Amino acid sequence: MSSARTMHEKIWDRHVIVKRGENEALLHVDRNFVHEGSFHAFGALAREGRKVRKPRQTIAVTDHYAPTVNRGKDIEVVTDPEMRNMIELLAKNTQANGILHYDMHDPRQGIVHVIGPELGITQPGLVITCGDSHTSTHSAFGALAFGIGASQLKQILATQCLWQKKTKNLRITVDGAIPAGVTAKDIILAIIAKIGTAGATGYIIEFAGTAIRTLSMEGRLTVCNMAIEAGARAGLIAPDDKTYAYLEGREFAPKSAHWEQALAFWRSLPSDDGARFDREVVLNARGLVPMVTWGTSPEEAAPITAVVPDPATATDADKRAHMEQALRYMELTPGTPLQEIRIHRAFIGTCTNGRIEDLRAAAAVLKGRKVVIPAWVSPGSSTTKRQAEAEGLDRIFREAGFDWRASGCSSCAAMNGDTVPAGERCASTSNRNFENRQGIGSRTHLMSPAMAAAAAVTGKLTDVRKLVS
Ligand code: SF4
Repeated sequence: MSSARTMHEKIWDRHVIVKRGENEALLHVDRNFVHEGSFHAFGALAREGRKVRKPRQTIAVTDHYAPTVNRGKDIEVVTDPEMRNMIELLAKNTQANGILHYDMHDPRQGIVHVIGPELGITQPGLVITCGDSHTSTHSAFGALAFGIGASQLKQILATQCLWQKKTKNLRITVDGAIPAGVTAKDIILAIIAKIGTAGATGYIIEFAGTAIRTLSMEGRLTVCNMAIEAGARAGLIAPDDKTYAYLEGREFAPKSAHWEQALAFWRSLPSDDGARFDREVVLNARGLVPMVTWGTSPEEAAPITAVVPDPATATDADKRAHMEQALRYMELTPGTPLQEIRIHRAFIGTCTNGRIEDLRAAAAVLKGRKVVIPAWVSPGSSTTKRQAEAEGLDRIFREAGFDWRASGCSSCAAMNGDTVPAGERCASTSNRNFENRQGIGSRTHLMSPAMAAAAAVTGKLTDVRKLVS
């Protein structure tokens, strides 16, 4: 039998403490992120009279409920008692357990999946967990990063270990030059449209190929962020010189001799030649165009040049029923050109597309133009916000008519009150377009930041390639 291993297998093997049966192991967890949703786990731990086993390996951030307007200096700005309670509980639980907490006034605050990489906490070869589905984002660094539930979080807080079943390996190779106007978001939407939201269920994806290697770290984070939307446990990308250059000098990155040691280890992580993948999917980037979703699942995505599809063309009865319900909810008619669909709001931000490169791409479209619909941007972190301001991007957004807000999850899941009104369509850079995701009755169209900016200035779904040369 070949000894060649995939990157997933190499990281897995290093973290196994003990095995149970054929396919299950107790893994050591290197980094664990928590946000406001962690209160169940902390509560359960406290009821058992237990403390966090390794508080230095858990990092907390206030993001889901953080207000993005009038943040002010203290908690008094949060008038909703439920939201305020969630924010206060996180502060109380982290304080009681000696956990580093970036509260909503900390200059390094931001969305958990943005600040992890930004601070250098996310590193290749680690096992990283968080009670949030989009923890797969961190896998862009060649880390085994996955979301966990409340009882698993309690286990990690109590022991710094987690029982896990080993999943199979799926390699998705995207080769070819990426056409102008096409971004990482378009690539991942095209992948999900091709394989479906259950296409990677039971697998860890490894993204490979020349197009993936071409992407910046920000672009890779966007791709891995949405691996979970294809059903994958995580979506890994092999670390390379771009990864190391991104990490070098960051607050939590290894320094001096430790850096050299870390580099040597990180360089050993990519999958060996001849490593066996259980399944392979191949996509050519060359034929891609900007993508938008028309339905209520990330797989219900199509090129902006297409029309709303007809459920009658679906060969599978379940799929047809889902399409019919999606079109009812989205109030769309088959055959309508996507570019004729009116949009009521635009939102740029989230752990998918709230990074500096995303803000630059949107600002390039907005420069010298005005929005015709309400639009807002919530940078992925306070650090990103300051960087954007230093580059003058905030001025471009404001002059175009965008609200320039504080950092947080904002309208991604609208837990902080940044909702999209019922019946309105939002051009959104987030990662989920389920019914009611951005507020009761809201209708979400997923797209890249440049495409959301284009929709904001035209009031319709728009092919951004017509606005930028
Ligand atoms: S931005 Fe959205 S997907 Fe990302 S962590 Fe926040 S709520 Fe979750």
